[in-house]
Amino acid sequence: MGQKGRTASWRIGSTFLAVTALASLAIGGDPVDPGIGDPYPFAYCVLVPDVELDDDIKILDFDGREVRVCCGDCADRARRDTYNVLRQIDELVVKEQKALYPLTTCLVDDKPLGDNPIDFPFRNRLFRVCSGECQSQIEKKPAVHFGKLDFAVIEKQKAKYPLDHCVVSGKPLGGGGVDHVAANRLVRLSGYDQLGAFSKSPGKYLKMVQEAAEKAPAK
Ligand SMILES: [Zn+2]
Ligand SMILES: [Zn+2]
Repeated sequence: MGQKGRTASWRIGSTFLAVTALASLAIGGDPVDPGIGDPYPFAYCVLVPDVELDDDIKILDFDGREVRVCCGDCADRARRDTYNVLRQIDELVVKEQKALYPLTTCLVDDKPLGDNPIDFPFRNRLFRVCSGECQSQIEKKPAVHFGKLDFAVIEKQKAKYPLDHCVVSGKPLGGGGVDHVAANRLVRLSGYDQLGAFSKSPGKYLKMVQEAAEKAPAK
């Protein structure tokens, strides 16, 4: 009931986050924003990894965190065994996003991360911090910290972005385009009107950008 609609609207909210996050940083004392977070970032069902997610999927909401599974049986399993399913997704989030992570400093207080940072998977996004206190700051102010990390991802990945066209519409990006970030990966869209389609299949489009990046000559 209304899950898909909700997903689409919070993704659109998150893309404008760049602007709102800066405002929040300046003002401080931002309240907890329900509905900030990344979509389920994989192209497959985490319970049956061989199964690609198609259009006929179930989207689940665990306290504002999106999980997509391939069928009703998997949805029941995820509801019954939430702790283990979310932990499994968290492990994949850390594993897949570590190489993309743009910073060597703590996202919260800018201290060097050193050799043993805390890997904190939060709402389908990997955050890396220097202490438990910094981790709790991310939980308290998700919009600020998603926004700050989005900026760092764009800064790090934009120059080497592997596609000259929008991965969703196929249109050339030209000089314009919208810099969207999901799962610590930059996805450049031809316009804000492509966000709805991106939100329907984020895992598929993230994978297309990933494959293009892997094929691109090293710079
Ligand atoms: Zn499944
Ligand atoms: Zn820190």
